[in-house]
Amino acid sequence: MSGSCTARRRLTWCHVLSSLSLLLAHTACVSAQGNQLAHLDRNSLYHVGLNSPKLVTPQWVGEKGVEAVVILAIDDMRDPGLYEAFLRPVLQRLKKIDGRAPVSIMANSVRPDHPQLQSWLGEGLSIEVHTIDHPCPLLTAGDLPRAKSTYDRCVDLLGRIPGNRPVAFRMPCCDSLNTVSPRFFSEIFNRNTPAGNHLKIDTSIFNVFTSDDPDIPRELVQESDGSERFLKYIPHNTDGPYDNFVNTIRNYPYPYVINRTCWEFPCLAPSDWESQNLQGNGNPRLLTDWKAALDITVIKQGVMCLVFHPAGWCQNSQLVELINHAVSKHGTKVKFLNFREAHDRMTQHFLGGGPGLRRDSKAFPPPSKNDAGYRILDINRDGYQDVVSGASTTKASVRIWQPGSRNWKTTTFRGAERFSEIVHFGIVRPNGQPSMLLRSQQQALWLHLEGDRWRSDSESL
Ligand SMILES: [Zn+2]
Repeated sequence: MSGSCTARRRLTWCHVLSSLSLLLAHTACVSAQGNQLAHLDRNSLYHVGLNSPKLVTPQWVGEKGVEAVVILAIDDMRDPGLYEAFLRPVLQRLKKIDGRAPVSIMANSVRPDHPQLQSWLGEGLSIEVHTIDHPCPLLTAGDLPRAKSTYDRCVDLLGRIPGNRPVAFRMPCCDSLNTVSPRFFSEIFNRNTPAGNHLKIDTSIFNVFTSDDPDIPRELVQESDGSERFLKYIPHNTDGPYDNFVNTIRNYPYPYVINRTCWEFPCLAPSDWESQNLQGNGNPRLLTDWKAALDITVIKQGVMCLVFHPAGWCQNSQLVELINHAVSKHGTKVKFLNFREAHDRMTQHFLGGGPGLRRDSKAFPPPSKNDAGYRILDINRDGYQDVVSGASTTKASVRIWQPGSRNWKTTTFRGAERFSEIVHFGIVRPNGQPSMLLRSQQQALWLHLEGDRWRSDSESL
C-alpha cells in the first residue's frame, strides 16, 4: 500500500518536473510575447479592455436579431413596499414590450414569505444578493468570517423564497468606494454557504466608455466641448472621500470570467449614485448619458447592467424614458433580461449546455475542485471569445464562434479524456497559437494548436 503510494508520488513528481522543464524551455517565447492568457490561471479582476477578445451578445443570448442586452438592477432592498412603489411604472413599461417585467432586485433582507415577492416573480423579476448587513467595505477590519457570514446568510435567505433561484451578487458600495477585492472571489464567492448554495455571477465592476474606442461615434462618447462624457463620473484629484476610485474597466461591455468560476457582468458607469455625486439628484444629464450608453452598447453588441436605487438619485420616470428610447430607436435589437435569465442563456448558448462554469458544489467541494473545466479564450485570434471544455466529466471540445454566420463550429480533440483538468493555457510557441497543459494524477501532456488541429509534443517534435 505504502509502496504503491510512494511509486505514485514519484510518478507524479516526475511529471511535474517534466512539465516544469517544458515550461522553462518555453520561457523565451513567453517572455518575448508576454503571456496574453495568464489571466486564465489567476484570480484576476480587471484584465479586460479595448483590445481583449469580445464576448458579444449574439454569442450567448440565443435569440435571432438581438444585438444587445440590458439588465436593470436596483440595489439595497429591505422594504418591498418602497420598491414596488418606485418600480411599478418601470415594470408596466417593460410589460408593454413582451408581457414580461425583467428587473433584478439586489436585496439585503426580506421575509421570504412576503406576498409581494411572489407577485414580482410571476411578472419576471429576480431577487438577487447584496449581503444582509451592507458593510462598506465588506472586508472591513480584516474580519473574513464576518464578511462571509453576511454574504452567506443573504444567499441562503433569498434561496428560501419559493420559486426564486438567486444567481448574482453586487458588492455593497461598489460604485463609490474600492470595495471589490480578489479575496472576495477566492474565499467567499468561491465557497459554499452553510446550506450548500453558491452564486454564478458577480456584477460589481464598472465599465467606462471612453474616446479611446474608435468604434464609438464621438457625439456619443464626448460632450459637445470634446470632453469625456462618461469619465466625468469617476472622481479624481478632488481630495473628496470618493477620490481615487479604481473599480473600473474601460471599453469592455461584455461578460467575462473571474477566477475560472465566476461570470462578471460589468455595470455601466454612471450608476445613479455616481450621477448625484457629480450633478445632484435626478439630473436630466443622467438620462442623456444613459441613452448614449445604450446606443454604444448596441453598436458594441454588449450588455448594459444598470445600477440604481429608489433614493431620488434618479427618477423612475428617467428609467421609463430609457426603455422608451430602447424600443423606439433599437426595437427588437435590445433585449431586457434579469440576471437569472442571462445566466441560463449564457450556459446554454455560449458554453453549449452542461453544468456552467461551476459544477455541483456538494460533489466537488471548493475552493478549487468546483471548476467545471471551461476555459474562455480566443482560440483562432479573430477577436471573439471561444470555449474550450476539457474536464474529464465532459467530452473535451472546442467551440469556435463564427461571426459571419453567427453560429458555433465544434470540434473534439483526442487524448484529453485521460486527463482530469486543464492546468494551464499559454502562448508558448513562436507561431502565437495557444497551447494547453493537461494533467491527471499520473500524467501530463502539452497540446499545441497547429492550424485547426491540436497536436501533442510527441506529434509536433
Ligand atoms: Zn448597496
